[in-house]
Amino acid sequence: MQNGAQDLGLTGYALTPGRQRSWWLRDALAQDPGQDCPPLNQDVKADVVIVGGGFTGLWTAYHLHEHNPNLGIVVLEQDICGGGPSGRNGGFASGWWDELHGLVKLYGRDGAVQAARAISRSIDSIGTFCEINDIDAWYRKAGYMYAVTADAHEKSCAEMVELAREMGGDKELYALSADEVRKRCASPAFRNGAFMADGAQVQPARLARGLRRVVLSRGVTIHENTPVSRLDGTTAVTPAGRVEAKDAVLAVNAWGIGWPQLNRGLVAWSSYIVLTAPAPEKLREIGWTGGELITDFRTSLRYFRTTPDGRIAFGGGGGRARRTVDEMFTSDSRAVAETAAGFRLMFPGWAEVPIEDAWGGPIDVSATHLPTFGHAGNANVYYAAGYTGNGVAPTHLAGQVLADMITGADTDNVRLPMVNARPMAFPPEPFRSWGAAVVRRAMIEKETAEENGRKPGFIAAQLARTPRRMGYFLGPD
Ligand SMILES: Cc1cc2nc3c(=O)[nH]c(=O)nc-3n(C[C@H](O)[C@H](O)[C@H](O)COP(=O)(O)OP(=O)(O)OC[C@H]3O[C@@H](n4cnc5c(N)ncnc54)[C@H](O)[C@@H]3O)c2cc1C
Repeated sequence: MQNGAQDLGLTGYALTPGRQRSWWLRDALAQDPGQDCPPLNQDVKADVVIVGGGFTGLWTAYHLHEHNPNLGIVVLEQDICGGGPSGRNGGFASGWWDELHGLVKLYGRDGAVQAARAISRSIDSIGTFCEINDIDAWYRKAGYMYAVTADAHEKSCAEMVELAREMGGDKELYALSADEVRKRCASPAFRNGAFMADGAQVQPARLARGLRRVVLSRGVTIHENTPVSRLDGTTAVTPAGRVEAKDAVLAVNAWGIGWPQLNRGLVAWSSYIVLTAPAPEKLREIGWTGGELITDFRTSLRYFRTTPDGRIAFGGGGGRARRTVDEMFTSDSRAVAETAAGFRLMFPGWAEVPIEDAWGGPIDVSATHLPTFGHAGNANVYYAAGYTGNGVAPTHLAGQVLADMITGADTDNVRLPMVNARPMAFPPEPFRSWGAAVVRRAMIEKETAEENGRKPGFIAAQLARTPRRMGYFLGPD
């Protein structure tokens, strides 16, 4: 990897993924380290205990407090709030108009539109929340552009646009000509594409830490560095104390693969981001000054965005699936190199701009590519999971739904079709993680070949299609 690292222009922290917190979180902590939230060291009682201090847990705490300021709410986080994917992601708060295909299959046309509109409202609410609470999370709603980069993606692009049109979402998602794509961002790899109006960029760790500050100011108790080993009913058990509560929430994202309540519906895959040095003049050269979020059509997805100081943050699927959330999700130099290679391919004019940072994290892949929210077995244990790498906006909605369910509020949120929808199950272990790892590599191999104008190998092409053949909404057709 060392030679490769030089060729790819990796420098600084990009050479040591995992040894430090993400660039986003380091920036957020430098701006405001926040008050101390020491580990739990005694037995306590609460109305609601929330396991996990990422967006899902914190939004749930926030919305619970909005319902009833007198509720005793305790959040237990094994690391620090935002230390997981909520402080590591690409910061794409994006809509679901590009998910209509799966949504319609699962919930019908009305349910699909209802769900997409609910996510649209969440994107706007995140912006309003930041404004009202004085959180400088770089929120900028400039939309989301899809760029076609290979022949194989032309059909997916056309079908996505046509379905949105049929469903009355032609203002929300529409086609872009090659010229229109180039005007927004002139990469030689891009052809035509599509544009989704529902797309806002955020600095995710600033949002997570801001959310932490707000819920703390409202009297929510947070214990960081407090791993929960299990729930006994609705009592959370930690190394030095228990929280006995009336209701419990599992907001553990990909760590759900280790929880019996959640594990059949989830596979954990890694995703990595590389970050360039600032080069605002280069952004001006390629015309990418509008703040659009951009992705290609690979099912092993590449996603990229800019920062206010003129960097590109470029993400890609790491291609690993594991049985536990271990250091491969944060310290995988091969995944960093693959992501960096994707960046160099799409932005050859940036060859002289070094890549200064890189980090990764786990994503909680569901078989439908969409999350579900609701009861996790026990009537008083709730969960939200299966975001499949698209949780920034949906976690806001999940927090609202769970808070409504817990407080018994009769709202439109609790009638959304993904509430208490049964997650589609994956095969049991060891087939699940082994199969996921093999298929993920095959997808990357197939899509990389297509992108380079090569015919993918027969075996990779067949393996990559396996999830669709098994009825999952994952991978290429
Ligand atoms: C590299 C990367 C890029 C991504 N990019 C995007 C993007 O651009 N847009 C998008 O929408 N989504 C993206 N995602 C996904 C998004 O980050 C997640 O869907 C979202 O953050 C989920 O929030 P969460 O609170 O459910 O999970 P998390 O942020 O993972 O929070 C769960 C928390 O639970 C804690 N926890 C786990 N087990 C325990 C336990 N036993 N006891 C106590 N605490 C525990 C963890 O430490 C963690 O902090 C990306 C993910 C990654 C990894």
